[in-house]
Amino acid sequence: MRSRGSELTLSKIGDIKVIVHRQIPDGFDIKTVSITKKADGYYVTLSLDDKTVPMIKPDFDADNIVGIDVGLIDFYVASDNTRIPTPKHLRKAERKLKSAQRQVSRRKKGSNRRKKAIKKLAIQHKKVADTRKNFHFQTAKALFDKYDVVAVEKLNIKGLVKTRLAKSINDAGWRQFVSILSNKAAKLATWSTPCGRLCANAGLKVIAVNPNGTSQECSNCGHKVKKPLSQRMHNCSICHTILCRDLNAAINIKARRTHALKAQLMSSLKSH
Ligand SMILES: [Zn+2]
Repeated sequence: MRSRGSELTLSKIGDIKVIVHRQIPDGFDIKTVSITKKADGYYVTLSLDDKTVPMIKPDFDADNIVGIDVGLIDFYVASDNTRIPTPKHLRKAERKLKSAQRQVSRRKKGSNRRKKAIKKLAIQHKKVADTRKNFHFQTAKALFDKYDVVAVEKLNIKGLVKTRLAKSINDAGWRQFVSILSNKAAKLATWSTPCGRLCANAGLKVIAVNPNGTSQECSNCGHKVKKPLSQRMHNCSICHTILCRDLNAAINIKARRTHALKAQLMSSLKSH
């Protein structure tokens, strides 16, 4: 197959007109083409082969790690005290989706107006999903531009702590974000050991951490500081550390992962 501007030539179909959302960058070979039907038309997805992506990332640094915690208000809070808010355009699309949902439920079943409303709802659904996915891709890229290891909370574990329940409103999005993050890490992840052997999946990493107690534990001295969800600050009575509770949790997530990761690296080096 070939692509020229707004025309795509497929070997089995011939020329078709397309709207190009993203230009194919130079130096990429097109590997596969898939066509899917969605609410607002047909979509062509190309998978590209980029020969410029290096297969080896030898400077993998286990200390270059960041912990991120799902924020109650922000999308996430990181252990380096950066906060990523949910972008305004995504919030706006989500609001529109809600109003489209209400419209469907107001229309009479079987009516043409309801059919129209359903179609509108499907389009809005897709818009939210696309916007969210784009945001997740950008955020994942920004994290791996800066860090080699990203520690996140493990989801879906039994005996979910209260904080997680309150945050579960973000969970669907969070799960997708973690999976995008992991895919990105896996793609970039190949590193060489001191003996020259290549280890897949050992480079950039996304690691899930048991979230139990991460919001209660003091990130400075380890003392358990019980606090209700409404309490936004972590205030330790032992070492007098005062931090935003989400930042305190993100630092704990990072610390838990750093310990476990070092142990894992040591044992993988020994086995070589
Ligand atoms: Zn403390």
